Amino acid sequence: MSRIIFWLALVFLVIFAVRSKIREAQKRHQQQFREPQQPAGGGARSNEKVVAEAETMLQCAHCGIFYPASESVQARGRDYCSAAHATLPAA
Ligand SMILES: [Zn+2]
Repeated sequence: MSRIIFWLALVFLVIFAVRSKIREAQKRHQQQFREPQQPAGGGARSNEKVVAEAETMLQCAHCGIFYPASESVQARGRDYCSAAHATLPAA
């Protein structure tokens, strides 16, 4: 009888350990998408910061893909996603 109790306790311990590991992994996964160093208690404020840091997106005049404005290559008065597309003849 004590053997059955021992095995039941062991099974419960294993299940508990696995569940806590999964919860830990989920927490780590969620933190990856947040800012690495967040000030304490800055819930809404950090969201505003993220919006302020969002970059303007431009559309490539050649392929139509959207890309950050900082990566823009300008040629002939138009914006392109890369130097390769800027040098291609206009479609
Ligand atoms: Zn392009």
